[in-house]
Order: sequence, then structure tokens, then C-alpha cells
Amino acid sequence: MIYRAKLSVRIVDLILFLFLGLLNVIQTQVAWSYELSGSSAIKIVYPKPGSVIDAPSSFIVGQVIPGTNLTCNGESVRVNKPGYFAHVVPLHYGANQFHLYSADNNINLDWTIARKTPPKPISPHELKIEDLKPNVDLGIKPGDIIYFSAHATPYALVSVQLGSHCLTLSSTKKTPPTTSVAYGKVVQRLEQNGADLYKGSYRVVEGDHFLSVHPEYKLVSRNGSLTIKCKATISTVERLSVARTIKAPTVVRLGPGLARTTPLADGVKVAIDGWLGDNMRCLYSPNLHVWIKKQDLILDSERELSRETSGASENNSDDTVPHAVAQTINIIDDSYGEKVCLPLDERLPYQIEQKLNPNCLIMRVYGVSADTDWITCEPKANGAKSVIDHVSCRQVEDNLYEVTVYLSDKRQWGYQVNYNGTTLCLDIKHPPKLFPDSMLSGIKICIDPGHGGSEIGATGCSGIPESQINFDIASKVKLYLEASGATVIMTRIAQNQNVSLDERVKIATDNGVDFLISIHNNALPDGRDPWKEHGTSSYWYHPQSIELASCLKESVKSASGFLDLGARYQNLALARATAMPSVLLEIGFMINPDEFAALIDSQSQSKIAEAIADGIRQYLYTKQ
Ligand SMILES: [Zn+2]
Repeated sequence: MIYRAKLSVRIVDLILFLFLGLLNVIQTQVAWSYELSGSSAIKIVYPKPGSVIDAPSSFIVGQVIPGTNLTCNGESVRVNKPGYFAHVVPLHYGANQFHLYSADNNINLDWTIARKTPPKPISPHELKIEDLKPNVDLGIKPGDIIYFSAHATPYALVSVQLGSHCLTLSSTKKTPPTTSVAYGKVVQRLEQNGADLYKGSYRVVEGDHFLSVHPEYKLVSRNGSLTIKCKATISTVERLSVARTIKAPTVVRLGPGLARTTPLADGVKVAIDGWLGDNMRCLYSPNLHVWIKKQDLILDSERELSRETSGASENNSDDTVPHAVAQTINIIDDSYGEKVCLPLDERLPYQIEQKLNPNCLIMRVYGVSADTDWITCEPKANGAKSVIDHVSCRQVEDNLYEVTVYLSDKRQWGYQVNYNGTTLCLDIKHPPKLFPDSMLSGIKICIDPGHGGSEIGATGCSGIPESQINFDIASKVKLYLEASGATVIMTRIAQNQNVSLDERVKIATDNGVDFLISIHNNALPDGRDPWKEHGTSSYWYHPQSIELASCLKESVKSASGFLDLGARYQNLALARATAMPSVLLEIGFMINPDEFAALIDSQSQSKIAEAIADGIRQYLYTKQ
């Protein structure tokens, strides 16, 4: 997706556009317009005039009358047969003028876009210090490292006063500009002079006591000196506090704003030993911290306070580190699957790891000591095959208890983890029942047409939004799947419907579907070439979805004839569902003129939709 704007394509406009093109209407100056009008035969859908772009190049994407000879600043523009084009233009810093010209009907189109200029480095003649880090409040304990940095007058002496400690920062050269890219996502760093950047760090030691201390930066240069206090405060954490999650699921990360790990149920107790702004650091085990947003937690001290103020008399303080002893593991059958239940005294944090070879699920529970002497398993009725082969458990280290569930099949069909009271349950899905006719009777599939409503996604060469094409293809997939006997659940049933990402996953999970397939079409960020980078890709997050992602990508790629961009790992909300294999499919590129032409063609949409249904069937009926 490249930008979001409300676009609409009306059949009336399209007919008018073609009609006017046939009449060869002469137009000398055309204003920017989202919609085709009588005065325009060159339509630009990206970039918007006046855009500020933070990349060394962009691409002009749009549509002309088929057969038009188009130039941009005198350079020939590649226009495909239906009249779609994408033209890469280099950008210099500041304003860039472009002049498009169609010789066939003597139409000119002028507009300007800008490239973002890098921030000016501080001059040695100024007396300046700015961008002080840390810029959010810190809660730290002995052993933690505090990182300081600031931009300041080059060739000066910059130091930080933290309590009684004075730390001298060193001038650092910045890392060279790098570009790391995933489709639709780009990280670009501008080239900068490094002489004005100062860095340093301090390791907190036993005996340090900071109570909301503002570190003070001091700059001494030939031009004079300057002292400025950080807005952020630093405090040492003197004791662990205990908090509970108040949201289900609660997002848990391995660092503030960094990778996610298993989300938690509500009411789970965690020990807090630090913070960075509104991110609270939770101690899972001696060697593992995770981070949870402050607003997703309630501190037990706050709970106590509210209990006292509400008049409740009992003060049975919970402010001790959460801990429980694991004694038994019970395996119970339910309608979804086979449930591995671990009774505990309180809700403790956990992580789930899925492995395929050997095929197992590993459940790590923190704050638990092992005393397991009994693993019970209900016998299956009629000697039916069990999903679970066997279960083992071990104490990995202090406060870390691990349960490994080995599975009978080579595949996994989904899992859910939750607390029932204070019993932690890992529910492992039964495989779907298959029939010898290779059809999809009894299979429940959730189809998610990506974006919708005000979320239009990427914009195609004609201006049509990705959300519309996703919806059109998804609606056809539904028909093919239903014709094969499957039950289909759609996450949205209209083009103008706004559905959040979490809601989409919930719809799939609540309906107990066997597969979740999210249908999207791709775009590139600025700085890339839509003629060179395009094709079909699919995305998985949990190992259980790798094979399905690969099957779908292969099937769609063969039907569309698009390039193969692979089945890839990516952290996407729709791929993060655990209750079933879930895959996000990027069929083609909205800004590649040839792929776009196929994506809006009803016949090729049907071919692609049929290929998605075939991909599911192939996956189900491939011998394991
Ligand atoms: Zn999309």
C-alpha cells in the first residue's frame, strides 16, 4: 500500500474517457484530478502532486488511452496495451518538476513532488544541544545499561550528570545509510554528518539510588557552554512489583516496540522490575524479560488501593512474586481438539513454541516449579486416533517449567491457549475430516478480503483501490469453495465495510474454521521499480501455516502466470491467528501495469479464485 486516499472509478467516467480519447480532444493544460473528466486523457494516480517523498526515487503510476505515446520530461514512458503505466523518476532534494506529454492528442500535464531534505547538521559555529536521549522515563536496576545520546555543536565536550556520576560522551560517526526492505515496508536512513552526534552509556551499580532524576547535559565548546536537563526521569527500582494483565489478548513483546511473543490471557500475574516510558518490563524467568504496555496492566498496589478506598477491609497483600507448583497434567477431549490442562494456583505467564520436526508444541510456564507425578489421558471412544502422541515435562531452570506435547500426525491444524480459572489449557485442534472424493464437504474456511471501507489499501494504475479488487476476488473464491462443498465465512460482506484486523481474526476463531486466508494485492514503497519487482507471494507466521502458504502461492502463481516471490515469514495480524493454519496471500502488484490489468479482468480473477480453491484442496489431499 502506498498512500491512502478516497478514489472511485465510475463506469460513466471510463466511457467518457474512451469517448473523448477517440475524439482526440486537444488539451493544453490539465489540472490534477482523481477522476477522469472531459479535459483529461492522462490520469495519474500516484504520487499526489505536492507529495513529500523520503526516497531517492519515486514512480509515476497512471492510465492513458490505449496506444498513447507518452513522455515524461522528454523520456519515453512504457505504457502497456490497456493503457496503464508506471514510470520510475529519480528525485533530487527539494522540489522536482515533471512534465508529461501525449503527442497523440497534444495533452500536457505538469506537477511537482518534493524529496525530503535531510536535517542540517549542527554547525561548529552554533552553540546547540538537542535530541536528548533518554527521552522517556526509565525505571532501572543494578546491571541495567542506560544509553545517552544528543546532537550538539561538533568538536565540543559533551557530558551528562546523573546523580553524583559525570559521564563524558564521545562524538560518533553515524552508521552509513542503509535500506532494508520487505514488500510494502521500507526502512531508509538518510545520509548525515556524524560529527554532531554524541553517545555514551552508564551501567547501573548496586548502591545507585535515583528517584525521578533528570540527567543534565553539559556542552563546553569554543563558543561557550550550555547546560540542559533531560525531560525524562531515571529511577532505580528498589523492589519488584506485581501486576495483572487486564486485556485478552495482552500483547507481549521482547523489547519495547520490538518482536512479539505469545500474547497473554487476562488476569495473568507478572513481576515488574523496570519500565521505559509506558512499556513495563516483566521478569518471566532469571534469563528472560518481556515488555507489556502499562495500560494493559494493573499493579497489585493499585488494586489494593482501590480496594481500600472502596471500603473493602481485607488486605491480603498479593505483592509477592507470582509462583506455583505444577503437579498434574490432564488431557481432555473437547469439540475443538485435545486439551492439555495444567492446574496452577494462580494465572502465570506462558509462551508457546510450535515445532514441526518433530511435530510438537512446547508450552513454557514461568514462575512454576515442577512436582509433576501424574499425566492423565482420557481413553478415546471407539479406539479413535488421538491428536496427541505423548506429553513430557521438565524444569528447565528456576521458575521455568516446560511441557512438550508430541503430536501423532506430521501436520498441525491449529491450537488455542487460555486459562480456565487458574488451569492453563493448551487446546490442540483435531484434523478436519476428509472424504475420498477430494472435495471440501465439512471443511470450514474463512476468507478475508483485505482492507475495506475507509481502509482502501494500495491504489491500482486506474485508481481502483486494492480493497475493491480483494473483495471481488474473495467473492469469487467463496463461490468456488462452496461449489466444492466447503462452508465459507467472510470477514466482510461489503466493499464499504470497515473491519479491524483483530475482529477479522476473531471472526475466524469464533467460527471454528479450518483455514483462514486473507486476500491482498501488493504495492512497493518509493525508491523501487514496479516493472522489476512484482509477482505472487504468500505469508505465514506460525510453522503450521508454511505448507499451506506454499500450496496457495504455487497454485495462484501458475494460474496467473505472475512471477514467484515465494512463501515468506512475516509478522502480519492475519497470519498470527493460531486456531487454524492462516495465510496472507498477495496475489499480484497493483502498481505493476501488466499484473494490474490481469487483476481487474473478470476472467483472470475467476482463474485466480479457482486456483486459491484448488490450492486448499491440494493441501488437504496431499499425502503426508
Ligand atoms: Zn493489502
